[in-house]
Amino acid sequence: HNGDDRAAQIPRYVRVNTLIWTSDHAMDAFISNGYNLMDPFTSSRGFAKDEHIPNLLLFSPQTTFHDDPVYKSGKIILQDKASCFPAVVLSPPSREDVYVIDATAAPGNKTSHLSAIMGNKGKLFAFERDRKRFKTLQMMLSKAGCQNVEALNLDFLTVDPQDAAYRKVTHILLDPSCSGSGIVNRLDHLLETEEESKSEKDERLTKLAAFQLVMIKHAMKFPAVKRIVYSTCSVHAMENEHVVRDALKSEEAESSGFKLESLENVLPQWKRRGLPDEMDNPGDAASLIRCSPGGDATNGFFVSCFVRRDRNTTNDQ
Ligand code: SAM
Repeated sequence: HNGDDRAAQIPRYVRVNTLIWTSDHAMDAFISNGYNLMDPFTSSRGFAKDEHIPNLLLFSPQTTFHDDPVYKSGKIILQDKASCFPAVVLSPPSREDVYVIDATAAPGNKTSHLSAIMGNKGKLFAFERDRKRFKTLQMMLSKAGCQNVEALNLDFLTVDPQDAAYRKVTHILLDPSCSGSGIVNRLDHLLETEEESKSEKDERLTKLAAFQLVMIKHAMKFPAVKRIVYSTCSVHAMENEHVVRDALKSEEAESSGFKLESLENVLPQWKRRGLPDEMDNPGDAASLIRCSPGGDATNGFFVSCFVRRDRNTTNDQ
């Protein structure tokens, strides 16, 4: 498989931004513009509704929308299907008293998705430590019509969980920097360079994994948090199952009472799950989501969800 082969298996995904549009209006508009409800792999003007993610449409892989007014106006977001999973799994309720953190937000695809799921209600704090990427985030949020978001150019690890501002935060999305090894590049550039030796690669992944674990443990310290989604666009167990396994064993998980969310609340319809052999308790892998690059018509991706024990973990709480 080279990048091009796999890219050809991935449709162009279009998430309808329900903050300013509806799927019904979007579908009518696409049909008026010459698209048809047909298999996007057999017809270049075909499009379809995704079977797992609400408000997500699939077009033929060659379709481009970058110059389309519906893209420029923020009515659609170009976002791979796999990267829609985290916000859907976190699924914060749409209510004024709901407080959420997106800990690593830029460029903001998942932030605007969360904002849409929240129906622009409540409060969504979006942290981004990189100055330049923060600017991109701000632009993206304003274009997408997100009004319940407060974007802050901060390192999440410097945010004090005891700060009164975050006392009511119940949901945290954590999509930190990773190796990006799951990304199927349409230009066939390999992200993992072939010159890198095995030990160099191991060292790089070890560092990333240590950082990812620290981020999860920090999220677990927020006093009211009851649901944390951790995701990566990596295919490596070191950044995925191993990080989750170590987070579950951490003092923070122990003292705050975090465990893995059960399968029925983590997109049970999705068939590809975590790798059992990479977990201490192989049964835990069922509640983890994996996406195989190309193989699932998505990029490579990983999603996990921690919930606080002894609390009502249903989404309407
Ligand atoms: N969730 C984003 C989206 O869907 O558009 C993508 C996030 S990207 C994988 C990770 C981001 O986290 C990068 O922009 C990086 O600069 C930022 N980041 C890394 N460490 C951070 C930290 N400690 N605090 C805040 N942001 C951080």
